[in-house]
Amino acid sequence: MLDFTFTEEQKMLRDVARKFTDNEVRPFAAEIDEKEELPFDIITKAAELGFLGVVFPEQYGGGGFGEIGYCILLEEIARGCNSTAVTIGGHESLGAMAIYLCGNEEQKQKYLRPLAEGKLLAAFALTEPNAGSDAASMKTFAVDNGKNFLLNGNKTFITNGNIADVIVVFAITDASKGVKGITSFIVENKWNGFRAGKPEKKMGIRGSHTTDLFFENLEVPKENILGEVGNGFKVAMETLDVARVSLAAQCLGSSKEMLELSIKHANERKQFGKPIAEQQAIQFMLAEMASEIYQTESIIYRTAWMIDNNIPCSRESAICKLVATETVCKIADRAMQIHGGMGYMREYPIERLYRDARVNRIFEGTNEIQHIVIARDVLKSTK
Ligand SMILES: Cc1cc2nc3c(=O)[nH]c(=O)nc-3n(C[C@H](O)[C@H](O)[C@H](O)COP(=O)(O)OP(=O)(O)OC[C@H]3O[C@@H](n4cnc5c(N)ncnc54)[C@H](O)[C@@H]3O)c2cc1C
Repeated sequence: MLDFTFTEEQKMLRDVARKFTDNEVRPFAAEIDEKEELPFDIITKAAELGFLGVVFPEQYGGGGFGEIGYCILLEEIARGCNSTAVTIGGHESLGAMAIYLCGNEEQKQKYLRPLAEGKLLAAFALTEPNAGSDAASMKTFAVDNGKNFLLNGNKTFITNGNIADVIVVFAITDASKGVKGITSFIVENKWNGFRAGKPEKKMGIRGSHTTDLFFENLEVPKENILGEVGNGFKVAMETLDVARVSLAAQCLGSSKEMLELSIKHANERKQFGKPIAEQQAIQFMLAEMASEIYQTESIIYRTAWMIDNNIPCSRESAICKLVATETVCKIADRAMQIHGGMGYMREYPIERLYRDARVNRIFEGTNEIQHIVIARDVLKSTK
């Protein structure tokens, strides 16, 4: 039986998230962008509402809403502020998610529980200055010294890098084994040898902090190996497979916000003696935006359902990422066109939403990499 309706609990979550966004997030979005700083009380309030662990089971301090609930949450928050959504995403979709998917019971109780309860914040450190799309070419390395692993190297462009308490770090443990020589570790920011750089100056999502990380003879206890030695690349890919769906949901939220703003503007703005909404050119743009949103929404919630039902969906999650991120950029462009000169001015939200949209085609694997993931799977299944 097909049932596309949200449950009462999911609807309740959406209402709470919408109220939070309307009252606590959207009114501050322009200021967050201008000051390049997300007030920590927004994160504290999100934590109090249980939003930092919505996706995880209750036994680990989470909300038990699974991927569908999490997509509902991020969609709502991204309607109000992409910087806030990305900060939550770096924590919940990436850092904490890696521990949930690949951690042992002890690690889940020690780290995932306080992360899900919003007592600690997480980050996920894969990218390096010379290892972006080709993440496996990383240089950060960890040497087994008997009791611990000694970690040295640096990471770049890490979301929440300077505010996270717990960071999932990927490092080479055996250079002779290629991707099978990478291991992931749970690292605490208070340990000796850890240092975060200054937040980067960015085009969009300026309230979300993106920093370098440096590790100098940092001793990681062996119990903090995430997964098994040599399995780190798998940990990264499994996490990204899930994270790409919620990133797509963020893009969906932002797309819906821009469509709403465009409809309002098209009805209010008069030229040639009538609202521009009466011009067919504007109507066609609105129709295209609505169609793309419907397509995006359909694949996101279908794929979130697959995750919640343990159905493998690497190809589908890459498709969600590809479609939703291309869509949000197209919608941002049309929204600005509908707003005319006003849309280009800082005073109006479209200018910020347009800048915020662009990064989505770059992070969590560029869209060219998503094409590769999809093509590989397509070719595999037709052999
Ligand atoms: C704001 C922001 C936040 C980020 N947060 C995080 C984070 O929290 N954790 C983390 O680990 N990383 C993070 N990143 C890093 C991000 O994941 C990388 O920027 C991304 O994977 C691309 O790597 P790169 O920037 O080195 O680009 P490159 O890999 O140098 O790519 C440059 C161009 O070449 C193309 N290209 C590369 N290889 C191929 C190929 N084989 N075929 C076709 N085209 C190719 C790419 O698609 C791209 O167009 C963040 C980045 C940004 C901008």
